[in-house]
Amino acid sequence: MIKVTVWNENRHEQIHPEVQAVYPNGIHNAIASFLQEAGFETETATLEQSSHGLTDEVLENTDVLIWWGHIAHDEVEEAIVTKVHERVLRGMGLIVLHSGHFSKIFKKLMGTSCDLKWREAGEKERMWVVDPTHPIVDGVGEYIEIEQEEMYGEHFDIPTPDELILVSWFKGGEVFRSGCTFKRGNGKIFYFRPGHETYPTYYQKDIQQIIINGVKWANQSNSTAPYYGNQKPIENLEV
Ligand code: ZN
Repeated sequence: MIKVTVWNENRHEQIHPEVQAVYPNGIHNAIASFLQEAGFETETATLEQSSHGLTDEVLENTDVLIWWGHIAHDEVEEAIVTKVHERVLRGMGLIVLHSGHFSKIFKKLMGTSCDLKWREAGEKERMWVVDPTHPIVDGVGEYIEIEQEEMYGEHFDIPTPDELILVSWFKGGEVFRSGCTFKRGNGKIFYFRPGHETYPTYYQKDIQQIIINGVKWANQSNSTAPYYGNQKPIENLEV
């Protein structure tokens, strides 16, 4: 069974009634509940917990970590970022959602500013599947429409993704690379754009399907971690 930890800074939910109205139990619990229904062993972790809920034990027992953060990126301790980074390089999957583009962990893994254009106007987003062969879009049609979302626009300052799966169009005219994959070390990373805190995006079935598919794609619990360092010969060198 794939073990997923859903991490959320959980700050908007405590201070903004309009966010509380959409996600009364927090974005992390909304995501965890559909992942649990999909058959994953799911835990949650939040910023205010000690070690932000990401102890060594939790990280070792996580196959795929999901990250949602926005207004408190700076409050995430460097020591925890270092541990998550190291764990990704050893093979833990990472799904970075929406404003997680500016999280310390995503910027560290990408090595670029990860900056973008944005606008909060509750406009329509149409997200096009540009790689219909990719497992992350299994069961999804040609495009997904979200009635109201925050706009994210290009240029998105990320390294060229290994795979580009989804591209968004916004009513205001911008486009955005909304579904991108990367590999860092032995870890697989999926950046997925939708999920502004004031809209019910994570209750939308096709959005949930993509996150479920993303977990399956990023999971590597069955693969053998490579050994690094001094190596004894496999064949007999004396013969
Ligand atoms: Zn947002």
